[in-house]
Amino acid sequence: MMITSKASALYVHVPFCRHICGYCDFCRTVYSSELAEQWLNALETELEYKKIHSDIQTVYIGGGTPTSLEAPLLDRLFRLLEPYTSNVQEYTIEINPETFDGKKAELFKQYGVNRASIGLQTANEKLLKMIGRHHTPEDVLDTINLLRSLSDIHNISLDLMYSLPGQTMQDVEDAFDFVRNSGVPHVSLYSLTIEPGSVFGKTGKEPLDEDTEADMYERLISLCEASDITSMRSPALRKRAANRIIIKPTGIMMISSESVQVLRARKIISGMIIRRF
Ligand code: SF4
Repeated sequence: MMITSKASALYVHVPFCRHICGYCDFCRTVYSSELAEQWLNALETELEYKKIHSDIQTVYIGGGTPTSLEAPLLDRLFRLLEPYTSNVQEYTIEINPETFDGKKAELFKQYGVNRASIGLQTANEKLLKMIGRHHTPEDVLDTINLLRSLSDIHNISLDLMYSLPGQTMQDVEDAFDFVRNSGVPHVSLYSLTIEPGSVFGKTGKEPLDEDTEADMYERLISLCEASDITSMRSPALRKRAANRIIIKPTGIMMISSESVQVLRARKIISGMIIRRF
């Protein structure tokens, strides 16, 4: 079957992570080089028959963890996507600081990646451990420095989570201070949701009560509004982030969804969520 797409954006799902976070029910599995090579082979076939045109405006490589791929495999992923990125204005990749280094930063520059989204989640090391993250806040700063110095990427977004079990308003404010001090222009805010297929869902972990969750959200939005940091969750801040290219979900072509299905059918991959737009 040939599919010709009029989509103006590509979303590429990399279904691997080095560790599985407690709250996660995304479509992912623990990384192995062998599996990653099989997935790249499937992706190459998928790209061939989908016949994507070259007039794509934005590319977003997410997951999973794209940087879980070892540098040679990440290089192959970029080469597979190269035919579709010549006219791209915004080329984003998600990063877990635990799997990032100078070699990967140089690949970003080589292939024209110009935006990065980093999972910070919280600046509290105990909370990071509790949710199953294997990096520290300092690793996030090292990642930002590598992106600026080796990739020439300054358009950086940090993911922050709130309503985590045991999280206080002070933790939320400290995390925002960390974001502000890092000098990044954008933050993505995520309230904890307990998905039935996640480790938290299976072990009965609960988010905070709804009132506290709402208070944390409002505090974060007011901190954003009082700073230069944008967040897509607030209409006012969205307007301020006018340099971002926003594409409706209907204009996005999901790449790797079928390659991922192959791994899911073989019960290698668990987790149902490919992307929430
Ligand atoms: S939250 Fe992100 S890094 Fe953690 S397991 Fe899920 S996809 Fe991987």
